[in-house]
Amino acid sequence: MLLKTEKLCKTFGGLRAVNNVDFHIDTGEVVAIIGPNGSGKTTFFNVVSGIMPATAGSIVFKGEDVTKLQAHDITRRGMARTFQNIRLFPNLTARDNLIVGRYSRGRSGLWDGLFHSARLKEEERRNEEMAQELLEFVGLTPYRNLMAKNLPYGAQRRLEIARALASEPDLILLDEPAAGMNPREVDELLKLIARLKERGLTILLIEHQMRLVMNIAERVVVFDHGEKIAEGRPHEVRHDPKVVEAYIGP
Ligand code: ADP
Repeated sequence: MLLKTEKLCKTFGGLRAVNNVDFHIDTGEVVAIIGPNGSGKTTFFNVVSGIMPATAGSIVFKGEDVTKLQAHDITRRGMARTFQNIRLFPNLTARDNLIVGRYSRGRSGLWDGLFHSARLKEEERRNEEMAQELLEFVGLTPYRNLMAKNLPYGAQRRLEIARALASEPDLILLDEPAAGMNPREVDELLKLIARLKERGLTILLIEHQMRLVMNIAERVVVFDHGEKIAEGRPHEVRHDPKVVEAYIGP
């Protein structure tokens, strides 16, 4: 089991945004979290990735209790994420966004390198190689020297995924990766996620677009009012009366 939460809770004042969630994902799995707006999906991501502290419960990642760790420590242990709203550096090139992403895992320390020119050169060479490979992997080589803000929307979203990959994660959390994409961009995203899966990456995504969920997720977890109300294979979950009710309302 790569990631496991037990009775995970996050409250905001009196609001139980995440309520007693038992969740797990195994190495190599692709799992989608779905649920109505406000059901706690993003808060779950925020707590799991260390952006917000849990109110109660536990998070175990790669066998280690990471409940109390902060985001950068969790990233360093091999968990990366993207956000609902694009968070690239708009005035850096596509390539430079990836190089910055690589340092988020803190592998050598930006400052160490600066004072050791041989090591710095080696580091630069490896960064360059990695950036090229990643740009090619996500189909953005032609955009490498364009500022992120000048990339088409779908390309920006793929660059975000590439940036998360630059830290060489074992688990990637994607928060609505298809948001705002046109059907062609969704197709490209589907292909990209399939290739990540082939490479053995474990993928947890929040997604509204059912086409994407049905096509790519092996297991779907449904949230409603902060609780996990159902889970199973996509076609099973889709017809679960509890799930239908959560979406349509009482
Ligand atoms: P989802 O991602 O499923 O749309 P969220 O996790 O964003 O749901 O939100 C779950 C609930 O928690 C909502 O009622 C939302 O208003 C509330 N919430 C989320 N973040 C905060 C915050 N930082 N402060 C207070 N309430 C929040």
